Amino acid sequence: MSATVSNKGRHDDKSVAAAAAVMYHARTEWGHTKSVLGDKRTQEDSEVEAFRSALLLLGDFVKENDYKGPVLLVTGSATALHRFLNFSQHDTQYLSLEFAQTIDTLLTTYTQISLTIEFAKKSSALVGFKRARHLVLEAAKGPLADSQYPPSIQYQRAESKAAAVSAWERQYYDNPRRSQAYDSALTTPPDGRMHLILRIASTGVQAKGQVFSQRVSREIQSTLTRLITGHAFTGAYRLMFKHKNLPLATEEEIACVCGAVPEDTEHVLLHCPLTHEQRLRHLSEDGAPDSLRKLFDSPKRCIGLLRFLAETRVCVKPRVTWEPG
Ligand SMILES: [Zn+2]
Repeated sequence: MSATVSNKGRHDDKSVAAAAAVMYHARTEWGHTKSVLGDKRTQEDSEVEAFRSALLLLGDFVKENDYKGPVLLVTGSATALHRFLNFSQHDTQYLSLEFAQTIDTLLTTYTQISLTIEFAKKSSALVGFKRARHLVLEAAKGPLADSQYPPSIQYQRAESKAAAVSAWERQYYDNPRRSQAYDSALTTPPDGRMHLILRIASTGVQAKGQVFSQRVSREIQSTLTRLITGHAFTGAYRLMFKHKNLPLATEEEIACVCGAVPEDTEHVLLHCPLTHEQRLRHLSEDGAPDSLRKLFDSPKRCIGLLRFLAETRVCVKPRVTWEPG
């Protein structure tokens, strides 16, 4: 089976989703299906359709030929099978259930067949791929059946995500970008993904064949967010609170335990002598970092920073515990 979203050979230049499936038996093509889903559809939509039509085609074939024996369904999409045959709760669970029912009906009606569903890398050496690819591209060139269909949910989701990211990007460029976040982790326009360091601390990140992962407690995760946004429990934070009824901050309130004034994020992460040893161990592998940005700029440094925070527990707790009075 094959699926695509393509505008190749179209006069209206619309990107159209299409799907195709080819059935082979005894080394010859028994039949095929191809369908156009229309524009405002995603690659995922067309993969659903490819899987659906492959199952339909198989049903026809088995019925007509009274076939007994093994059947192999092959898709060229590495993610499709996981999505369509995953029965846990997720966005497209209803599709998985639909496919499970179709497969169940097939197997209980024709008890003599066995079904294997596989992913194979797209290769022209494999029988059927070239043919299915050709069919699907032909289908994508075809006329759109009905222009009145609504966009699919997947399409709408992708569309609104793209709109949100671009609005975000506009905001990024319009802002003066003076906050601490822009000087540390938020150095590039938003792309709709979490910052590297947050992904390393939760799901882990795969880059250049290596897995980067560093689990830290929730406490450390929130400390990290406060450090990035400039709301960490440091002495300098006290300086942000100005009110005519609030007495001026004393030196004691804003100084670091080591004596440095004021105790700010740069001091805590880059300079404080009290955590010198941990800084050498976790943050200085490629030379001592001289700016906050550097701490966030590579997977290795991000892991180092997470370890540094977990070990030193700097800024985890408020400096003063306030007694209600
Ligand atoms: Zn210090």
